[in-house]
Amino acid sequence: MFTSVLIANRGEIACRIARTAKRLGLRTIAVYSAADANALHVRLCDEAQPIGPSPAAESYLVIDKLIAAAKAARADCVHPGYGFLSENAAFAEACADAGIAFVGPPPSAMRAMGLKDRAKALMEKAGVPVVPGYHGDMQEPKFLSRKAYEIGYPVLIKAVAGGGGKGMRRVDKHADFDTALAGAMREAKAAFGDERVLIEKYVTAPRHIEMQIFADSHGNAIHLNERDCSLQRRHQKVIEEAPAPGMSAQLRATMGQAAVAAAKAAGYVGAGTVEFIADGTGGLKADGFWFMEMNTRLQVEHPVTEAITGLDLVEWQFRIAAGEKLPLTQDKVPLHGHAVEARLYAEDPERGFLPSTGKLIALHFPHVKALRVDTGVEQGDEVTPFYDPMIAKLIAHGTTRVQALDTLADALDKTIVIGPRSNAGFLSRLCRAQEFRDGAFDTGFIDRNLGALKAEPQSLDHAAAAAGARELLALERARIAASRDADEPASPWDAGDGFQLSGTRQLSLPILADGEKATAQILHEPSGPVVAVDGVPAAVDAIAVAAGEAVYVLRHGRQTKVSLRDTAADAAGDHGGGGLVRAPMHGKVLGIFVEKGQAVTRGQRLAIIEAMKMEHTLTAAIDGTVSEIAVTVDAQVGEGAKVMVITPSVQK
Ligand code: ADP
Ligand code: ADP
Ligand code: MG
Repeated sequence: MFTSVLIANRGEIACRIARTAKRLGLRTIAVYSAADANALHVRLCDEAQPIGPSPAAESYLVIDKLIAAAKAARADCVHPGYGFLSENAAFAEACADAGIAFVGPPPSAMRAMGLKDRAKALMEKAGVPVVPGYHGDMQEPKFLSRKAYEIGYPVLIKAVAGGGGKGMRRVDKHADFDTALAGAMREAKAAFGDERVLIEKYVTAPRHIEMQIFADSHGNAIHLNERDCSLQRRHQKVIEEAPAPGMSAQLRATMGQAAVAAAKAAGYVGAGTVEFIADGTGGLKADGFWFMEMNTRLQVEHPVTEAITGLDLVEWQFRIAAGEKLPLTQDKVPLHGHAVEARLYAEDPERGFLPSTGKLIALHFPHVKALRVDTGVEQGDEVTPFYDPMIAKLIAHGTTRVQALDTLADALDKTIVIGPRSNAGFLSRLCRAQEFRDGAFDTGFIDRNLGALKAEPQSLDHAAAAAGARELLALERARIAASRDADEPASPWDAGDGFQLSGTRQLSLPILADGEKATAQILHEPSGPVVAVDGVPAAVDAIAVAAGEAVYVLRHGRQTKVSLRDTAADAAGDHGGGGLVRAPMHGKVLGIFVEKGQAVTRGQRLAIIEAMKMEHTLTAAIDGTVSEIAVTVDAQVGEGAKVMVITPSVQK
């Protein structure tokens, strides 16, 4: 067994690998980019090696830097995690050349499965069913168009070098083919530097079912059951589970054999996933599933397999890379109960799932038996724009599927993410959606139900806004109480300009709630202040957290940001101070995200300033163009100093 490992990754997967490595007694070595200098995975590992600037292309994706770090730390082996260089054969080779074991398959197996067209050809030869279509070398648009016609619509155009759902286009009718092909090729060229595509029959009512396989270097290969990853958005997984609803033991054995045959054909060693697309019409069946691709690495959703088997897949990876034999034979692989995983993201479902970066002002997960939380961040950490904005994976295990889904939905409701917006509420609604619970779903489920899942713009949550105003009021009162002797001018909060009305005093307070102008009414009842917005009283089922000038209110998984509105600035219009961006405190400029002349939209991140180890993100208050940048990265700025100027866009 190895004695040390360099983990060539970041975030939750680096933390997860470190956990098992430590349990096995390995010395753990993290790598970090500039943005990750104080990240959780660095704090968790025994040692850490810097690998350069924040962009992944200059750090986590640079083979030479990772090899140099592994050599400097005298690592026995390198675990690549998923994403980044995990499926890069040249990286595996560079490790071997440096005399360091690569925890993954041999480079030849990675190459055999790396391109979708070659992988499909290899699978056909091995007798594994592949999706009908064209995956040859001819790339002339006219030829491909004729092939699509022969295959029959709908078809799916896929980049042969594809991954992460990029370079993919579904085409429903012949008239749309040429435009879709051009789009797919353009996207593939930009994302993978390879514009070649293949064409597949688009399977109706598609279910994504994949088999976890493991092979050792002694010629043994088994599968660890399937996962169903049919809940997707833009061909990317959102919720995954094991086993697959409606899967019989017999069909599992059939699919498992196909997956093991696929692994053997590629000369596979280690952990891998064989992805199949199944026709879900009328239930899963033995002649209704086809090979799509093989992922030659650990999968994001591997914890659901761990939950139903009780195995540690990362431990198996290490043991196999160290030359050990598979510890189980196929008939001994357990399958207990049901597990479901949800990917918690810093993103805004109401705005097209746009990533939502910034400091995690609050982050809390419930502590429940039967719930596992894999995360790479803690409260106070920053979700940066440099990497995937996944916050955590929540994995629930139950005796039955319903039990697992209940545990997960409940855990999502109790999860607190404040600062960036998250998809927690969306995921919880998904877990409770009746059709999904009934097993009546396919990969189009989310897209068909965006409205019911509230993944579209919602109107202001007045009860949350009122709760925010109530918190602002309480904070202001506390501040006044603390500085009563300091001869402060009277605060508008003190109801000084309120009026008498049958024994109660009422005050109107201008607020900004999620960027919307609103007014909170405060009634000073004998029992205390009662706050409402548009007649809706403050919610009692909300969590309010103050940070800086604002209060963040979390209610039903949705965040409403509330701050005091400066009516004087309102009156002056947006031509006033809105475009001047000042430093909120004395500190150091850590990063600048925009350039002079760049167009920005309200809420967009402009720069990060650090003071006393606290990072503060400056965002644009208005839509406009950056007309001046007054600071440079690493510069010290005083409180209130000019950072940049945004010239407002002219309203026509
Ligand atoms: P990637 O490398 O981006 O993961 P895949 O080939 O695995 O690409 O496909 C991604 C997703 O696209 C699948 O999970 C599935 O939902 C959908 N998909 C792929 N091929 C087909 C097909 N032939 N018919 C229907 N859906 C498909
Ligand atoms: P899987 O097939 O294992 O579910 P996906 O293709 O859905 O994987 O998503 C994994 C992808 O996430 C990687 O291929 C990569 O694009 C991206 N990624 C890379 N590194 C990270 C990371 N540290 N955290 C989250 N996502 C990452
Ligand atoms: Mg895939």
